[in-house]
Amino acid sequence: MTVITRYPPSPTGSFHIGSARTALFNYLFAAHTGGKMYLRFEDTDTARSKREYEDDIREGLQWLGITYELPGVFRQSERTHTYRKYLEQLIGKGLAYEAESSDTEQNKKVVRFKNPNIPMTFNDLIRGDISFDTTELDDFIIARSIKDPLYHLSVVIDDYEMGVTHVIRGEDHISNTARQILILEALGFPRPLYAHIPLILAPDRSKLSKRHGAVSVNQYKVEGYLAEAFVNYLALLGWNPGGDQELYSMPELVEKFTLENVQISGAIFNIEKLRWFNKEYLKKMSDDTFGKGALPTLKAAALARGFTWDEKIAVRLLPLLRERISIWQDITKQIDEGEYDYFFYDPRPSPADIPHAGGDKVAASAHLLAMLHTLQGISEADFKNPDIIKRSVWEYATANGRGDVLWPFRYALSGRQRSADPMLIASVIGKEAAERRLHAAIKILGTAS
Ligand code: GLU
Repeated sequence: MTVITRYPPSPTGSFHIGSARTALFNYLFAAHTGGKMYLRFEDTDTARSKREYEDDIREGLQWLGITYELPGVFRQSERTHTYRKYLEQLIGKGLAYEAESSDTEQNKKVVRFKNPNIPMTFNDLIRGDISFDTTELDDFIIARSIKDPLYHLSVVIDDYEMGVTHVIRGEDHISNTARQILILEALGFPRPLYAHIPLILAPDRSKLSKRHGAVSVNQYKVEGYLAEAFVNYLALLGWNPGGDQELYSMPELVEKFTLENVQISGAIFNIEKLRWFNKEYLKKMSDDTFGKGALPTLKAAALARGFTWDEKIAVRLLPLLRERISIWQDITKQIDEGEYDYFFYDPRPSPADIPHAGGDKVAASAHLLAMLHTLQGISEADFKNPDIIKRSVWEYATANGRGDVLWPFRYALSGRQRSADPMLIASVIGKEAAERRLHAAIKILGTAS
């Protein structure tokens, strides 16, 4: 048996996390078993369905690397003649009937399913046997009119015509399954296998919604998450292959994914964990790839803050950025908050703060002068390496008290109570700027005393 799964979103809103996770599980299961996944749009709700949402979903799938096949006609709105054929068949056999709509103004006849009122059990691949008392469903409506089918009917017909073997979807669809099985049995279709996956919950275990932060996949792309990290995190929302490994590439997910390892209880969405995953993927990047990803964001943010763009400084800043960010947008945030101002502008250190706590200005001035002389002795080429700068200053700093030496050194370069270490700042801003800043600080101390 070739596995055929389907991902049938209703294009009534943008591509959201829960929907992406459903698509991913269907994709992984199909790929793992050598089968295929179909995408189709369930747009029978014509008032709310929009083409722009279809585009958003397809772009999101592409970004995540989730591939699919399209059935010949992939919009339910274009298949009404097919649904009508089956509706007529059901009516012809006395298994459905037209009835007055309760909405008398409509002057249309709805189609009701003739409920056989049988006890019903289906085996869920994740949850085991689930039983229903179908008598509670009465003769439910399956079409608003002979030309206007409702979701339960179209879903059953589409799944049959596409040869769907496994219906993998959110647990919110469990209660729909009884109706759908009644319909498919009336039509004489085989029953697909069902697997209902746990809902994605907010940390307070309520249903995940906008008030918990972004739920649209595209928003995460815009904020600068990496597709690989996002997919990795999504896969672990409700699925756990066991063991300690957390980082999985898409091919590894395909290899490992089974429905047996899907959990029953709700999966908690944790933005900090998602950021952690993203950081792990940033750490693994080559310098070149990291630079290509970071520089455009850095440049836009730097220009917005009024810096004169200096590509050399920016490139030398990359290792620090890599340590300090989890997603690309953190660069924008940190630049906006002024955290990198001193890399682009000479600071204005205040004389009172130049000496280390309790230290005096004369000593601080002497230490700065020693640092200045040390920097003057380092070649331009060696200046690019903060470790070489560190080796050059370390002996003096150790002999004269690291705090007493390195505080004025750092503060003179950054003008900040908290900043990166002085060797790193010096190497990023370059020899000339570092020497200029030390000079300036010595001068400020001189005039202040
Ligand atoms: N169109 C439905 C939805 O978006 C999917 C139904 C199904 O998977 O059977 O929730």
